[in-house]
Amino acid sequence: MRVVVQKDKNRAHGRVLSRGVVAAVAAASVLAGCGQADPADGSEAHPAPGRQQRLEAPAARALDSYATELRAAHRARVAAARRWGLRRVPLTPPAPPAKKPRITTREGFEVDDHEELGLPPVFTTVPTGRRVVFLTIDDGAEKDPAFLRMMSELKVPYTAFLSDYLVRKDYGYFARMQARGVTLSNHTLHHPYLPGMSYARQKREICGMQDVIERHYGKRPALFRPPFGDYDQATLRAAKACGIKYAPLWDEEVFVDRWEYREWDRDLHPGDIVLSHFRGRRHWKGTMPDMIRRFLNKVTEKGYAVARLEDYL
Ligand SMILES: [Zn+2]
Repeated sequence: MRVVVQKDKNRAHGRVLSRGVVAAVAAASVLAGCGQADPADGSEAHPAPGRQQRLEAPAARALDSYATELRAAHRARVAAARRWGLRRVPLTPPAPPAKKPRITTREGFEVDDHEELGLPPVFTTVPTGRRVVFLTIDDGAEKDPAFLRMMSELKVPYTAFLSDYLVRKDYGYFARMQARGVTLSNHTLHHPYLPGMSYARQKREICGMQDVIERHYGKRPALFRPPFGDYDQATLRAAKACGIKYAPLWDEEVFVDRWEYREWDRDLHPGDIVLSHFRGRRHWKGTMPDMIRRFLNKVTEKGYAVARLEDYL
């Protein structure tokens, strides 16, 4: 699997490069056409055998401008990393996998008849050999505009799991988040402890939030995370009935002042899902950007890029 990472990276670059070359060839044809329209024009340095050479210059220019673009993009990332006080520039994730991994429920996280009933898989890590992790942020209490700016400028993807009782105080904030490419996902209407609640009440909590997100943001989520990560069979049956396809939990949690780990090795692993929360100074000793700094500093230092969870599902 690790080998695939390299291959995919090369393929992604290859695609962009060949697109650049195609554009260059097209531009060269136009230039050649112009040249032919005025054969008396002495500006043509290499007439007959020069056709190849005439193609080369624009192709080289296209590659040059592609390289210039890459350098500019990198400079922008370096500047953003500096501006937001990161120790290192975040790594760029590989292109989304052409073939999505098969997501199954983590061992020990199944409910009765999980597979037989076709219930959404519950997982903490996405099976991939790529050195990527996924950031998920829950609830929706803190609505910090600086956080939106930071994530856009650093181009770090994340998935938001929203609970209506917090989001309803400012639906617009999450609309701006969605406009920046973030997928808004389901975390119930009122954030209750679901296990033991009747199927009907659980369904109201989950389908109700599907309705809210569709009404305000135009799309019914495919992802649902039960509050506190706790659920029973009724939860997953209700989630399925509400159109949910996946129930991602998390393998690590990042706070403004620390990390917490599910695994004994207290480390990150390829495909890990990381949890955090929309919290600010009212909730913990720092801001959303402070939390993201802690998150990115460790992830980058360990050689991981942050990828978009939806790209792997
Ligand atoms: Zn929550």
